[in-house]
Amino acid sequence: MILLKYPPVTNLEHRPSQKVVAGIDLGGTAINYTFLDNCEHFLIEQLCEHPSRSKEGPIVCLDQIAEGLERAATAAHIGVADIAVIGLDTPGPASALGVFSARGSTNFVHPAWSGYDIRTNLEQKLGKPVVYLNDGNAGALWGHFVIFGAHSRATSVSAIVGTGLGGGIIWEGNVIQGRKGFGGELGHVLIPYQSISGIEGLVPSCNCGRPGDLESLCSLTAIGRCLLPYFLKKYPDHELAKAADLPRAAKLVRGLAERGDPMSREIFRVQASALGLFFDAMINTFDPDALILGGGVIETSKEFQEWFLSQIRAAMPDQREEQADIPIYIMPNGDTAGARGAAIEALKIARAANLLFSQ
Ligand SMILES: [Zn+2]
Repeated sequence: MILLKYPPVTNLEHRPSQKVVAGIDLGGTAINYTFLDNCEHFLIEQLCEHPSRSKEGPIVCLDQIAEGLERAATAAHIGVADIAVIGLDTPGPASALGVFSARGSTNFVHPAWSGYDIRTNLEQKLGKPVVYLNDGNAGALWGHFVIFGAHSRATSVSAIVGTGLGGGIIWEGNVIQGRKGFGGELGHVLIPYQSISGIEGLVPSCNCGRPGDLESLCSLTAIGRCLLPYFLKKYPDHELAKAADLPRAAKLVRGLAERGDPMSREIFRVQASALGLFFDAMINTFDPDALILGGGVIETSKEFQEWFLSQIRAAMPDQREEQADIPIYIMPNGDTAGARGAAIEALKIARAANLLFSQ
C-alpha cells in the first residue's frame, strides 16, 4: 500500500539482505545523516553533518550527499552496501514525490533547483530506493515515533514552532502528505485569531499572503514582523523599543519571557493562544491520540515549557469530556528530527518490501 505511492523501483530485491535504513536531512547549508536498524535502534546518537553546498546547484549537492553518506556510514561502522532504503527530507515547497516547486525554494537558491526531482535523481545516483518527506512531516514522524514507536496505529498532530511553523499529521501511523504534498502544512491553517485577548486591531500577516493563519502569529518571523511592532506601542519604554532591527530583536524575546519580562510573556501568551485555537480545531477534526509541540519555542527551562503548555490549554475552548484529557507532549531532540523521521519512513518501506534482516 505504501509502496504504491512511489514509481516502481528496479533495484528492490525481495530477500532480506541488508542491515539498516538511512535518514538524510538536506538543508540549505548542511546535510544531516542517521541510520536505523530493524530493532528501531539509531546507530548515530548525535548530529552527523556534512556541508550541502546547495547554492552550487543540484549536481554538486548530490555529490555532497553521496560523499557525506560514505563518511557517515564509516563513522557508524557500516558500509553503504548495508543500506536497504534511504529516507530523504528537505524544506519545501516540493511535491509528495520530492519534486521542488517550479517557483524555487528559499532554502535552495540556485536556478537549477526549480522543478528539480531530487528523489528520483538521488535514487539513480546512489542506486538505492529513496523515499521523500518534507522536513515538517519528517519531524512530525520522529515525534510520533518517540511516543508510539514504529508499529503504532496511533494518530498525532505535531506543531513545530521555529522561524516559521512546520509540523505534520500522522494518521494511524502514516504521514498525511496529501494530493500535492501539502498535507500537514499546519502553519497556513487559518485560525479565529480575533478571539485572542490583548491583540485587538491586529491583522497578522504571513509570507503565504493569507492573514491570520497559525504561522502569522506563532513563529519567530511573526514576533519580528507583527507581535513586537504591536506590543512595543503598548510598552514604549521597553528595552527592545530602541532596536533598529526587529527580526533580530525577536530572537531575544524568548529569553526575556523566560526571565519574566511582562511584554515578552504577553507575546508568548498570544502564541500559546494561537496554538490552543489551532489544536482545538485538530482535536475536533482527527480526535488524535496526542498533540506534540516542538521547535525553538520550547527550547527553554522546564518551568517555562510548563507555563507555555498551560497557556495553550487555557486557550482551548472546552472539549467534550472524552477529549479534554488529550496529552500534549514536548518533542525531543529537535536537531536530529528531520533525519530520524526520514529514516523511520524508510524503515516502513524496507519492512513492507522485506528488505531487512530480522534480528
Ligand atoms: Zn501562511
